[in-house]
Amino acid sequence: MSAVRLTMTKVLLLNATYEPLSFVSLRRAIVLLLKDKAEVVEALERQLRASTREMPYPLVIRLITYVPVPRRVNIPVTRKTLFARDNHECQYCGTSRSKLTLDHVVPRSRGGKTEWTNVVAACESCNRKKADKLTPEAKMTLRRPPFRPTYVTVVLLGQAQGNEAWARYLPV
Ligand SMILES: [Zn+2]
Repeated sequence: MSAVRLTMTKVLLLNATYEPLSFVSLRRAIVLLLKDKAEVVEALERQLRASTREMPYPLVIRLITYVPVPRRVNIPVTRKTLFARDNHECQYCGTSRSKLTLDHVVPRSRGGKTEWTNVVAACESCNRKKADKLTPEAKMTLRRPPFRPTYVTVVLLGQAQGNEAWARYLPV
């Protein structure tokens, strides 16, 4: 737990099934705990005072009652969501994490659309090398086929970097 930054004020909220739902503010987490709507799953060793109670400083909390959630959320393709899906790595060379661009696997000039199954994160140099060619024509290979991400992949993983306690409850 030593890696936890003290400025961190968000808490991972799990459903009753331990499925990750969202990040909530520390304040919201405390309200849920005080109303007995949630329980602490992971906490820091230090305590905090809330109302008249002392409680562990929560990192992960779990709802007592299951909340149904819609299975499919349509996440728009943006540079931010795309780079999060691709773990901020170029999907061709796999190494460059800087100067990422949005690359159309089937180029737009060949009718390729801006949709999840046709876009990948690519570094500037790979994007330039690929240009208006199809992947085999450019003699390049994708590390994995592009896919439509889930809410957890894009929204939660993007926010959870650098915290082991949260990462345990999120799919890799
Ligand atoms: Zn690259």
